[in-house]
Amino acid sequence: MHNHSTRSDGLLSPTQLIELASRNGVDAIALTDHDTTDGLEEAAAAARTSGVALVPGVEISVDWGGTTLHVVGLAIDPLASALAGGLRAIREGRWARNEKVAAALATLGFEGTLNAALALAENKEMLGRAHFARHLVERGAVKDTQQAFDKYLAKGKPAYVPHKWATLEEAVTWIRSSGGIAVMAHPGRYGLKPMFRDEMLAEFKRHGGEAIEVVTGSHRPEEYAHWQRVASELGFLASRGADYHGPGESPIEPGMMPQLHASLTPVWSKLH
Ligand code: AMP
Ligand code: MN
Ligand code: MN
Ligand code: MN
Repeated sequence: MHNHSTRSDGLLSPTQLIELASRNGVDAIALTDHDTTDGLEEAAAAARTSGVALVPGVEISVDWGGTTLHVVGLAIDPLASALAGGLRAIREGRWARNEKVAAALATLGFEGTLNAALALAENKEMLGRAHFARHLVERGAVKDTQQAFDKYLAKGKPAYVPHKWATLEEAVTWIRSSGGIAVMAHPGRYGLKPMFRDEMLAEFKRHGGEAIEVVTGSHRPEEYAHWQRVASELGFLASRGADYHGPGESPIEPGMMPQLHASLTPVWSKLH
């Protein structure tokens, strides 16, 4: 229930992603590109051909008091106007942010990264840090994309640029008004202390958030039990997703993640 394509920062086209899922025996898959629903039409066509059920999705970038959160929308309607307009505004905001990332990299001695990263982005509207990371690998500055984040691009590193994305309320409201289900993506990735984590999830729920990711390629397996407990205690549906970005970057392919614990209610129980 969480995968990327070349329409954002994934490495496979929507068609290639669906074909991979089909080869892996997946019966239903969500495409959840960052801040765009651009790939859903192609994915739906490929899904019809392969006999896989496509859950139309998106992963929305949110700023929560200086912490970037990701909210996944599942079973959304990409044509719903509040959602489409909100996503367009986030994408437009990326231009100024990416110029600042490039400027920060230039002061570190890496000139010309904006155009080089853009050349690696198939969808120019959805340039993100993963494209900068791939370019830094290409020019030999780091050994892999993980090191690009660890040295330069992650929060607290010299080329990190804070950004005002959507608010949590906006993201959840856009998803719900389009008929979708709001899922808090990889809650273990935000480094929030328990008090802030509880406050964040309470606010998410108050706005209409219904699920959290428990088993995700963005959590370490040791973390699954913790988020399973949080989902049960706070009354959230549970989601499972590879957060797949492509060969070489994501170790676990769609359909290969461990199952959710039987005590959890999967978010897909609400999908027909
Ligand atoms: P952006 O939306 O441009 O800030 O890029 C966010 C994307 O960068 C995430 O979806 C991941 O694909 C990647 N990313 C973010 N933080 C890390 C990290 N610490 N390590 C590896 N990849 C990361
Ligand atoms: Mn990504
Ligand atoms: Mn994410
Ligand atoms: Mn993701």
